[in-house]
Amino acid sequence: MNFEEYKNLWVFIETFQGKPKDVGLELLNEGRRLADLTQERLCAVIIGSDVDESVAKVTAYGVDDVYVVKGKEYENYCSDSYGDAMAKLVRKFKPATILIGATHNGRDLGSKVAVTLQTGLTADCTNLDVDQETENVIWERPAFGGNLYAQILCADSRPQMGTVRAGVFKKGEPDDSRTANVIEVDIHTPQELITTKLREFIKGEEPADLKPAEANIVVAGGRGVGSKENFSIIQKLADELDGAAVGASRAAVDAGWVPHFRQVGQTGTTVTPELYIACGISGAIQHQVGMKDSATIVAINKDPDAPIFEIADYGIVGDLFKVVPELTKAIKELKA
Ligand code: FAD
Repeated sequence: MNFEEYKNLWVFIETFQGKPKDVGLELLNEGRRLADLTQERLCAVIIGSDVDESVAKVTAYGVDDVYVVKGKEYENYCSDSYGDAMAKLVRKFKPATILIGATHNGRDLGSKVAVTLQTGLTADCTNLDVDQETENVIWERPAFGGNLYAQILCADSRPQMGTVRAGVFKKGEPDDSRTANVIEVDIHTPQELITTKLREFIKGEEPADLKPAEANIVVAGGRGVGSKENFSIIQKLADELDGAAVGASRAAVDAGWVPHFRQVGQTGTTVTPELYIACGISGAIQHQVGMKDSATIVAINKDPDAPIFEIADYGIVGDLFKVVPELTKAIKELKA
């Protein structure tokens, strides 16, 4: 394989009903940093039937090129059609690196394309860098149940591919005056290759309030909260803080006290809020992976040796059933 032929960094922009998902826009920001390190072009890839809004959006977020594949067969995500289009694009334009959001569809697409092209894919990355000498991306991800971080290189094949979790990187600032080179590529997938068909789209229940990944402040509860009913004290504290969402550890989710969309950590969401308040959470590595990059971490735990205190900026050793209502009361008084 001649590595010289492979150039530029691509970000796959997953869309839903014509709109780009945030994770793709987050990856453009990190993609720009990596592309600058290797002096390559940053390119977005958009596959769909209705792409105009997504093209405008990625242009505003800042890309050099946008590769567009348009067709009726790409109206909804499907492994067969998207996998085929992406593999054809890669064979034609030979990118060095491809970043894909680690959503359900992104994970599916990444593995399909990597197998088709016989190249390497690192799944579910939580950090990225570049070895400038070899231009290998250093893909970092939790390994062995999150007990250590592995740095993985794809040193023998191109393109080097990776999926990255939503919320790991922040979006840049959009600017509508930016322009990009839009390259419409005439690629189509024959119907006989499409073995799955979307019969119906059933919309799931939308959470009534903010999701942890969208919030500036996350108040999270763990096993120490003790029951579904007790989560009301976590909710009350979140209600007093503007723009706060309730989060949870896996233990609280597994116990059925809160729905899974609130879970923070390796098998939940990654959050990077301004403030993260962990209540009755021990701070297992799998939880830390999802919240350690929060700007300020406050931990409330009755065990002074709980690992969460090792990463907390402020620690309160005490009973959350006393501390949390006191904190809620104090914030209410401050606001009055
Ligand atoms: P515990 O570890 O039981 O801690 C409860 C804490 O509450 C203790 O520190 C205790 O001192 C404190 N406490 C109890 N009562 C009070 C009180 N009244 N006042 C104050 N403090 C009190 N976990 C996640 O959170 N997110 C994930 O995404 C995730 N993914 C995982 C993936 C894998 C592959 C594996 C193996 C595990 C994963 N886990 C995840 C589970 C993780 O290892 C821990 O088991 C889990 O985070 C523990 O949750 P916890 O801190 O709420 O419970």
